[in-house]
Amino acid sequence: MSFFEVVDPQFSRFVMGNAPVKQLATGFDWVEGPVWFGDLNCLLFSDIPNNRILRWVPGVGISPFREPSNFANGHTRDRQGRLVSCEHGTRRVTRTDYDGTITVIADHYQGKRLNSPNDVIVASDGAIWFSDPHYGIATDYEGYKSEQELPCNVYRVDGQTGEIAAVLTDFYCPNGLAFSPDEKRLYVADTGRMHSDDPQHIRVFDVAENGRLTGGAVFHVISPGCADGMRVDSDGNLWSSARDGVHCIAPDGHLMGKILVPETVSNICFGGRGKHRLFITATTSLYAVSLNRRGAL
Ligand code: MG
Repeated sequence: MSFFEVVDPQFSRFVMGNAPVKQLATGFDWVEGPVWFGDLNCLLFSDIPNNRILRWVPGVGISPFREPSNFANGHTRDRQGRLVSCEHGTRRVTRTDYDGTITVIADHYQGKRLNSPNDVIVASDGAIWFSDPHYGIATDYEGYKSEQELPCNVYRVDGQTGEIAAVLTDFYCPNGLAFSPDEKRLYVADTGRMHSDDPQHIRVFDVAENGRLTGGAVFHVISPGCADGMRVDSDGNLWSSARDGVHCIAPDGHLMGKILVPETVSNICFGGRGKHRLFITATTSLYAVSLNRRGAL
């Protein structure tokens, strides 16, 4: 069987026919938020319903990293390499400092509690951008069922002042975010409220000085499934989660090909030596595949 589906012949150069999509670990409930630490030679990822962050080390396997994790979901690293995490249970975004101290980056907006921060990225100016859909407070499965106080927005926290601004306010449920390599574009997935007629697409925005956004056209409609988590490679191709695997989308919005994964994919990240390996969190399992590509960051 092939692990790949080529749509645009150029995609054949992105993958290696003899590189398997390998299951690294399984037995989880809903894994999310992979983030690679090359300096520590490990991957961290969330097992959200089990309220824990796990660590995978090549040649060693899985061990707990943080438990309980406040139902952590998406993670990234800031420009100083520190872990930045979205937490459903505490309805906040945090940074883990080098000494292990946890600092709250955002938990309120205009005096109201955030919903359940889902995914996060950090720009080169230090600004922290995150999505805040309601999934983590809608049920007790991935957090604590509780009152929604704010619409499902995308926020930007200024890296210098710490000031929080709602920068995208017309989404149903914003989810994964990714910058183009030059940070002139921002991609944001809308995964809807999980009703079939809600939007399930990726929108693209132009980013100007101080994070000002314009545009917002639909960039690509993922099918089947939705674009939960996304990452960009060094040539600006967007790699997105989907129900049948990972889809590679060219900068002009067309589907180039797919990595086929046997479980619904939630999120991805580049890592490994040279950032040429794509780590894939998919429902109950962690997968990885080596690509002839490099992650942008
Ligand atoms: Mg997500």
